[in-house]
Amino acid sequence: MDGIIYLDNAATTKVSEGVLKEMLPYFCNSYGNPSSIYEFSVQSKKALVSARQEIAAFLNCEPNEIYFTSGGSESDNWALCGMVEAMAKKGAHIVTTKIEHHAVLSTCEALEKKGCRISYVGVDENGIIKLEELKRAITPETVLISVMAANNEIGTIQPVAEIGRIAKERGICFHTDAVQAFGHIPLDVKAMGIDMLSASAHKLNGPKGIGFLYVRKGIMLPSFIRGGGQERGRRAGTENVPGIVGFAQAVREAAKDLFGRAEKESALRDYFMDEVLRRIPYVRVNGSRKMRLPNNVNFSFQFVEGESLLIMLDMQGICASSGSACTAGSLLPSHVLMALGLPEEVAHGSIRFTLSQETTREEIDFVIDKMEEIVGKLREMSPFYDEIRGR
Ligand SMILES: *Cc1c(COP(=O)(O)O)cnc(C)c1O
Repeated sequence: MDGIIYLDNAATTKVSEGVLKEMLPYFCNSYGNPSSIYEFSVQSKKALVSARQEIAAFLNCEPNEIYFTSGGSESDNWALCGMVEAMAKKGAHIVTTKIEHHAVLSTCEALEKKGCRISYVGVDENGIIKLEELKRAITPETVLISVMAANNEIGTIQPVAEIGRIAKERGICFHTDAVQAFGHIPLDVKAMGIDMLSASAHKLNGPKGIGFLYVRKGIMLPSFIRGGGQERGRRAGTENVPGIVGFAQAVREAAKDLFGRAEKESALRDYFMDEVLRRIPYVRVNGSRKMRLPNNVNFSFQFVEGESLLIMLDMQGICASSGSACTAGSLLPSHVLMALGLPEEVAHGSIRFTLSQETTREEIDFVIDKMEEIVGKLREMSPFYDEIRGR
């Protein structure tokens, strides 16, 4: 195979040609500041207005409920910190899950240090949130429920509409980190009872450094970045016009064939999972097979270190990701895999592949061949594997 095989689309995606083409005029030609009053800046202002309209229509909300930010992390930080600040009179308790992205989890840790109480709801062995546990966690002090729409490691899709209903019944604000879901599966903030939603362009073939927070009209969220009056005074900073224009184009491209793309990707995803399970022993698929993002594949190989597997795949030009996160010099197993109840040594042998609409069957076949070879080699070196085989 020539070049690289990029199977890390949950980390980031390639900017599509169409997106780049839409963005280019806003760097050197229509570069005016949308807040300026002269005629020249009208081009940027118009681009901003129509981008906001298109993104809002895709989510089934109003344009003035979309607040552009620097990305998913900022949106998550804002939603959580803002709500705690706004609701200080009611209480300081957030209900979230054990499998959130670090943009949510680290924010929760920071809020805990300031005296906020956080309940981390568990998931079942398939990675789906335990709704009964969620209901029990809610108290009169709860000011926010934050549950991701789809998980970035194992691809599980959460029952967002049901959580929306639970939140509404109890009069609690519901935020969802939809960074992995947005542009990949259908989302409708009204139908799903979502009050706040985070999204980011670079996870759907848009540029990096641009995202938004949807905030339903009536939700009082104080500003997080202070300064000028942009984004109706709620998020200061000169608008990233090329980024926003590119984001809208990425949404247009995603919306055009959401189901067709999902069908193609999930067929290849299922083929990938089935073939690996058929050809390689002592492997498991992590996360629900059914409630799963179309492009996510996550395996745990026994008697193999995920990191070693990654490095050897890299030598073949294959880009994937391991479940471990290197924190403070020690290799910790992924918090998501631990929440599934996986033994630590199994979690360590985990690897994630995330496909794109450009991924081909030939690429997947090549990756499976290499995996079979590499896993075999690594296991030859594992004393535990010898034991299992009675040598
Ligand atoms: C990538 C990601 C984020 C962070 O988004 P950025 O735009 O990179 O800041 C947050 N949540 C989830 C689930 C993600 O996958």
